[in-house]
Amino acid sequence: MNLQQLLSAMEDEKEFTQRLTAWAKNPSRPARYEPLSVQLHPELERTIEQRGICNLYSHQVQAVEAALEGRNPVIATPTASGKSLGYILPILHHTLSEPSTRSLLLFPTKALAQDQRSNIQSWIDSLEADISTYTYDGDTPPNVRKNIRSAGHVVISNPDMLHTGILPHHTKWVRLFENLQYIVIDELHTYRGVFGSHVANVLRRLLRIARFYGSEPVLITCSATIANPRQLAERLTGRQFELIDQSGAPQGEKHVLLYNPPVVNKQLGIRQNSLISARSLVRRFLSNGLQTIVFARSRLQVEVLLSYLRHSVPSANIRGYRGGYLPGQRREIERGLRSGEIQGVVATNALELGIDIGSLQAAVLVGYPGTVASTWQQMGRVGRGEEVSAAFLVASSNALDQHIINHPEYFFSQSPESALINPDNLLILVNHLKCAAFELPFARGEKFGDQDIEEILIYLAEHRILHRSGDKWYWMAEGFPAEDISLRSASRENVVIVDTTEVEPSVIGEVDEFSAPMLVHEGAIYLHESQQYQVEKLDMEENKAFVRQVDVNFYTDASLAVEVGVLDVMREDASPTHQKYFGEVRLTAQPTKFKKVRFHTHENVGWGDIHLPPQEMHTSAYWVALQQSVVRHFGKSELESGLLGLANLLAEVSPLYLSCDRNDLYVINQVRSPFTERPTIYVCDAYPGGVGFGQKLYDVEDQVLQSCRDLVKSCECSHGCPSCVGAIKEVSHLAKEAASRLLHYLLQARAAD
Ligand SMILES: [Zn+2]
Repeated sequence: MNLQQLLSAMEDEKEFTQRLTAWAKNPSRPARYEPLSVQLHPELERTIEQRGICNLYSHQVQAVEAALEGRNPVIATPTASGKSLGYILPILHHTLSEPSTRSLLLFPTKALAQDQRSNIQSWIDSLEADISTYTYDGDTPPNVRKNIRSAGHVVISNPDMLHTGILPHHTKWVRLFENLQYIVIDELHTYRGVFGSHVANVLRRLLRIARFYGSEPVLITCSATIANPRQLAERLTGRQFELIDQSGAPQGEKHVLLYNPPVVNKQLGIRQNSLISARSLVRRFLSNGLQTIVFARSRLQVEVLLSYLRHSVPSANIRGYRGGYLPGQRREIERGLRSGEIQGVVATNALELGIDIGSLQAAVLVGYPGTVASTWQQMGRVGRGEEVSAAFLVASSNALDQHIINHPEYFFSQSPESALINPDNLLILVNHLKCAAFELPFARGEKFGDQDIEEILIYLAEHRILHRSGDKWYWMAEGFPAEDISLRSASRENVVIVDTTEVEPSVIGEVDEFSAPMLVHEGAIYLHESQQYQVEKLDMEENKAFVRQVDVNFYTDASLAVEVGVLDVMREDASPTHQKYFGEVRLTAQPTKFKKVRFHTHENVGWGDIHLPPQEMHTSAYWVALQQSVVRHFGKSELESGLLGLANLLAEVSPLYLSCDRNDLYVINQVRSPFTERPTIYVCDAYPGGVGFGQKLYDVEDQVLQSCRDLVKSCECSHGCPSCVGAIKEVSHLAKEAASRLLHYLLQARAAD
């Protein structure tokens, strides 16, 4: 059966259709073309024609015109709509017309940079022009680097390399900086949170150096669909942008289905596990020869689902794809998907980025990806060109998933979230000021982005990091500041996973330092391409985990104990019922135990202890403490359950307002907080220094509490379930009632204000 036939067959199955909460059919849309009002270089016009492009899509035309006229376009159209022509054409036009022209292209990952280089190279080949393009990253051999610096017309790199490899050595890059015409920032939407805040500062440094060499480059940015592409571009770069968000590319008919697995235990509100539901769905696509992509929510889920699918459709070539696979293995999987040799892939959001994997027919999202923007990006992996395509969202039983699946109208009408960054996070700003001072001395009164920085410069001078002479501040400390500053929240150090099954040990994968205690602690079952390994030793000094192949019928899942302490209060506000705070906290995280979970049935078949030291971090948080006037209405155990239930609700609902993932927050409740001396719930930013989540929650507290109340109210369970306050065996049967009453009091006071 082809996809159209399979969908028709599904439409007739009552069992299936009654699980659906929505089935949207987006009709196909023809292409929209526009003529270009500017004249391109004749060689380029010839090549465009030669490549069989008779007309450009309207958004491409708008982007090219804006770039050529120096208006900094931000192109925010769907995946595969041909955004890259929006920068390739202006760059080639300018380089053909004036061979000294230089351009710098930034991609968030090496793989994307390499992808784009071959695309640009193919244009240069058809032009038969003397234009050179290079990727410049950690893999570039030293003997080629010199050549790139002097002769590379188009240099393709990533923010990390710009930060440590290019900006500090700008004197070797004079040709690039003196002639810098275009800076392209692709996958703009990935520059959010801590990473985005760092990148904004790297871009401040870049533009500062360009100015020093006398260049005012035009910026061209591309973004997936988010609510605020223009605002994000402007916040990242400090420049003004022109927004281009109406795609002219054609689109085939696209089906979007929201699927809620059946309830298997009505009383406890337990639904069929989403992995199990997804397995049967994906099996139907694969056994009909339809190329399918499956998105799971974690690395562990990818491996579990991959094992299930290989077991149930043995004839299909199905692969996993996630962080931790070695680069060579990833490239091989991408190629296999493009060529059609691989029929199915189970991935984390690592495949959400623009990596070219060709056109797939069906997508199954197991669990709500956490934001509307990510959901559309993942669903955008199917249906290129004018083909029919289908994307399924299979809900898990957690509260946010159930909220989304039961409010399809909300999901379809909701505009994607905003990407938040805070370039002026003091920790991040100070770090980049050091790097900037190393690169070029600061003059008195000079701003960094739009920030006055004199106070920080004085502070750095007091600490003998800078040295003031006349009207300038010079770098004076030993060493090289950029080396010690990583742009990614995850540490740069990876723990290498070594398979010791054979006499000759081999490296099979890696995991970042921060996740290692949870994923490869001693006794863990580590899954890699669905093969099971038992971890025999985790050596955090050497950054190595030693594993051995095993064949067991369970996998492991570790739990983390997180404690919080208040360091500083920045804002607070009291009402008759509660007091809210925004401030800085210290988090201490320690993996404590792991459970063994049986494949397929997901029963818990045992426990083990984890012996690893705690990790500490300073971050920002929002917290709320209950006043005595509320507390006195509750019995002791009632209060405990209610507080826990409310904490669980906040953990589910807050990401909706922050455009972040559940895992970006730690929610902690204390029946008697040492700081407030009252029952208190903390919602903490999971990144060192914080990205501003706490402050935002402080500001939208009322709306968040209101959403928590709506969620409990609309849940059909009797005494609480995983879709509202949490599983009864975890929160007790008092939780739902108690949490509702807590919310009633908290919101009542506001209404009376
Ligand atoms: Zn419920």
